Amino acid sequence: MKPQNVLVIGAGVGGLAAAALLAKRGYDVEVIERCAEAGGRARVWEKEGFVFDMGPSWYLMPEIFENFFREFGKSVSDYYKLMRLDPNYRIFFGAKDIVEITADLEPNLQTFEGFETGGADKLQEYLSKAKETYEYMMEGIMYKDLDSFWSMFSPSLMKAGRKLHILSNIDEYVQKFFKSDRARKILEYPIVFLGGNPKNTPALYSIISHIDYNLGVWYPRGGLGKIPEALMKLAKECGAEIRFGVEVTHIDVKNRTAQRVQTTQGDIDADLVVVNADYPFSEMQLLDSKLQTYPAKYWEKKIIAPSAFVVYLGVDRKLDQLTHHNVFLEYDWVKHFDQIFEKPAWPDEPAYYVCCPSRYDSLVAPKGKENIFITVPISPGIDDTPKIREAYFEKILSHMEKLIGESFRDAISVKRIFSLNDFTRDYNAYQGTAVGLTHTFRQSAFFRPRHRSKKVRNLFYTGQYTHPGIGVPMALVSSQIVTDQITKQYDH
Ligand SMILES: Cc1cc2nc3c(=O)[nH]c(=O)nc-3n(C[C@H](O)[C@H](O)[C@H](O)COP(=O)(O)OP(=O)(O)OC[C@H]3O[C@@H](n4cnc5c(N)ncnc54)[C@H](O)[C@@H]3O)c2cc1C
Repeated sequence: MKPQNVLVIGAGVGGLAAAALLAKRGYDVEVIERCAEAGGRARVWEKEGFVFDMGPSWYLMPEIFENFFREFGKSVSDYYKLMRLDPNYRIFFGAKDIVEITADLEPNLQTFEGFETGGADKLQEYLSKAKETYEYMMEGIMYKDLDSFWSMFSPSLMKAGRKLHILSNIDEYVQKFFKSDRARKILEYPIVFLGGNPKNTPALYSIISHIDYNLGVWYPRGGLGKIPEALMKLAKECGAEIRFGVEVTHIDVKNRTAQRVQTTQGDIDADLVVVNADYPFSEMQLLDSKLQTYPAKYWEKKIIAPSAFVVYLGVDRKLDQLTHHNVFLEYDWVKHFDQIFEKPAWPDEPAYYVCCPSRYDSLVAPKGKENIFITVPISPGIDDTPKIREAYFEKILSHMEKLIGESFRDAISVKRIFSLNDFTRDYNAYQGTAVGLTHTFRQSAFFRPRHRSKKVRNLFYTGQYTHPGIGVPMALVSSQIVTDQITKQYDH
């Protein structure tokens, strides 16, 4: 029988997108969110005129957003105004040692030629292969419901075959092209977005360079918070209802069928449940043990993506040394990755990222001030205390001031630290992870946790833990896949 009442647990990007899609297809949809606002990791925090994106700040793969809104006969421009950033980002290798990656390819070719002889040609070849791989991924894998091992092998992927370098890691792959440490660092750094280490992330993910250099780095005016705002509007326009400040505490199942959820504000009946809340939490805390497709021992064996040390700063003057996206790569990052994945500890010499959206967007900070967002990837599961946080903040701030050549601590009027314990408390994140499951070979595509429970017939999952994975565009695609699965299962 076709279910009518759909309950979505969580109003992150994945939950809101699924709510909109399912409501559009005629289901009665209710979304239950434990936080007071929408967006999950992509929430917004406002203070004294500063508008901080709490998580995502890179708007990549604009075609995926367009594809999503097109399902509703809409366009991105109906909801927010996109601008292309130039430069894409600035890299601080040391004080006064700065490299820019620009929107136009030509200066980047010159930059790589400066790193090593033939660097321009090598970059061109690297990007043309990345483009080819991206096209195969978009056509053969991205939007597919990978419900069996063989489903990964579409004709286009079979044709691409060895060219995709499925079994080598991105570090080995980049080294086949480039000798210089700088070229490697620049091309491998974005792997952090996938919650990974270049040494265990498949070379397939070199597509990130095509995304960055060829497709461009974009930004919605007003901040990335415009995305959940748009999704919430869309979901409501399609008829979905959204309740905030209500936590789901249990999914009641009878005869392998979810019947209702228990919440902090009473029980709610449901014919079908879509979970957007963190997958490990939902399986281990919301379901009885015999109904868990992925019990504790499954998660214990997984490589969990980093947590993050995030600082939001309101600064009462302009900082001209920064551009919108800034990456600080002075130190040997092998040690940083070791301290995330091998010997968990707060990184002694971190690689980190600083976003300053107020450089070109007057909507996110009061006039004459800067909105700053610092992110350091850290290991999941390590100690996180107020004392450690303050000492770490001091360390990062001093280093950043040294590299940009200016002290600005006296001008900080707003400061908030959000780290491991906050990810656990606010999002029920397993081990305090910021982004879920790392994209190793064994944790990508078909090998990610399924969109559909194997034990409960009408229970589905969407969001960053599922295929295609981490990131806002991926959470949208995940919801498109799950909606298609639901439609296929019930609408015939
Ligand atoms: C610091 C940081 C930087 C990032 N940078 C980028 C970037 O630049 N670009 C990019 O594309 N991606 C980025 N990401 C990743 C991106 O934000 C995520 O992959 C994406 O937002 C995940 O969306 P989701 O819907 O899967 O999950 P979530 O956003 O986690 O949503 C899950 C929701 O479920 C709710 N929930 C949990 N438990 C319950 C419960 N029991 N009852 C009710 N509700 C519950 C949570 O409160 C949350 O709102 C970043 C993430 C972080 C943390």
